[in-house]
Amino acid sequence: MKPTLQRPVAIPVSQSTAVATPIMPSVVYASQTPDELDAQYSGEIQGYTYAREGHPNADVLARRIDALEGMAGGIIVGSGMAAVSAVLMGLCESGDHVIGGNQLYGRSLRMLSEDLPRYGIETSLADTTDAQKVAEAIKPNTKLVLVEVVSNPTIRIADLDGIAEVCAQKGVLLVVDNTFTTPAALKPVEHGADIVLHSVTKLLAGHADVTLGWVCTKDPAVMERMTIYAVTHGLTGSPFDCWLAERGLATFELRYERAEKTAQRLADFLAVQPNVKMVAYPTRPDHPESARAQSLLRGKGANMVSFEMEGGRSAANAFTKTASELAFAPTLGDVGTTISHPNSSSHRNISEAERVANGITEGFFRVSVGLEDPDALIAAFDKGLKAAKDT
Ligand SMILES: *Cc1c(COP(=O)(O)O)cnc(C)c1O
Repeated sequence: MKPTLQRPVAIPVSQSTAVATPIMPSVVYASQTPDELDAQYSGEIQGYTYAREGHPNADVLARRIDALEGMAGGIIVGSGMAAVSAVLMGLCESGDHVIGGNQLYGRSLRMLSEDLPRYGIETSLADTTDAQKVAEAIKPNTKLVLVEVVSNPTIRIADLDGIAEVCAQKGVLLVVDNTFTTPAALKPVEHGADIVLHSVTKLLAGHADVTLGWVCTKDPAVMERMTIYAVTHGLTGSPFDCWLAERGLATFELRYERAEKTAQRLADFLAVQPNVKMVAYPTRPDHPESARAQSLLRGKGANMVSFEMEGGRSAANAFTKTASELAFAPTLGDVGTTISHPNSSSHRNISEAERVANGITEGFFRVSVGLEDPDALIAAFDKGLKAAKDT
């Protein structure tokens, strides 16, 4: 058999547009001449070169998330943590100081406590429900403050406007991880955030079948530094993952509305159960930052509910075992409801004293409400709580 030359072929041109975005898995893109390639690299003409540096599916997805957040020029990376890395590792240098919220996502906390110090970057944590505490933590070498507006798993609400004012005064970058809140409830850029990031894995993609992240900033020079870091350190996401996320994103607002309605009902149901001690949901009047939640989140409660029931580990075991319709799995934002138990998962390595200070006991559960029939969902919780009560 004669060997054939594998030349790239051009995709046939069509006057009409594909309604669904095509998947473009190509790792490399062929140019016609060195002149053309030069012009591409220098930005005179638009063209892709190598998938780690950028590809159409990442750009299409990034533009869609940009639009949701009211921003422009964001990039897609391989996970939410890749987005956190692009910010922290891409922008900070030895001698800088970084402040994080004291209830950040577990891996973000770990990056602050374990990884940044190895590179000579100082870090400290502050209670972001109080802007004064953040102001007190700022030092002359503070580069940025990383905030999650709704804390995980305790659903406390950060004083975003107060922190933005402090950051603006001190010339410190304000970075908001908007994964929990989502642009349906909050657009951080409208509240003075300099950099916004997402774990697209969660509500935006929404089907627990892809991990991706997105990060964006208003400042083109800062955006370029993060992009170069992401490309050099291989943080970029794959075309197929981007395509899946784009497909999920198409129904984001509908999924959000449905999950939120059910979450509100579930929170109200839990609040009146005899063996439930505490329910944390932003729109409930018993929420510790209820007024702030109303104004900052525009009355949105979102899909996350946390609660504490009576009893120790055996009650917790009885609850998850009996409410077997609920996936006991440490993620959030999926089409199905998932419940997580921070004491045995995300918070297992945190000291007992710190956990207790945040109210994270054996009876503490975090619920990510999905799209199931609300009555069936509440029946499953009812069954689980009754079993827990009987232990
Ligand atoms: C899940 C999550 C992350 C990390 O995202 P991955 O896609 O899992 O890497 C970061 N921040 C928050 C708030 C999250 O919930």
